[in-house]
Amino acid sequence: MAVLINDTCINCGACIDECPVEAIVDEDDNPTGEEIYYVYGDKCVECVGHHDEPACATACPTEGCITWDAVGESPSHRDDISDDMRSDHTPVVE
Ligand code: SF4
Ligand code: SF4
Repeated sequence: MAVLINDTCINCGACIDECPVEAIVDEDDNPTGEEIYYVYGDKCVECVGHHDEPACATACPTEGCITWDAVGESPSHRDDISDDMRSDHTPVVE
């Protein structure tokens, strides 16, 4: 999973310092040669464990520039465990 920066990027630099895992590089270091910022897909964790949503996208002033598709499908949260999955309070030892 990773976010993607598309060619609407205006190279403003707002995203790069927001990344907790240093997955973002500027246009000079973009391995594709495009004159836009770039996210290393093998580094980006979509901010899971760091922020509720991708911090780079929150910081980005260009709407629709940073996209992703799988946020929210992270491992089940304890709130997702239903009551019937919990103990029925029957004592194990009587
Ligand atoms: S989603 Fe988070 S981890 Fe991924 S590039 Fe953006 S700031 Fe970095
Ligand atoms: S914040 Fe958005 S527009 Fe600015 S450099 Fe990052 S991806 Fe590009």
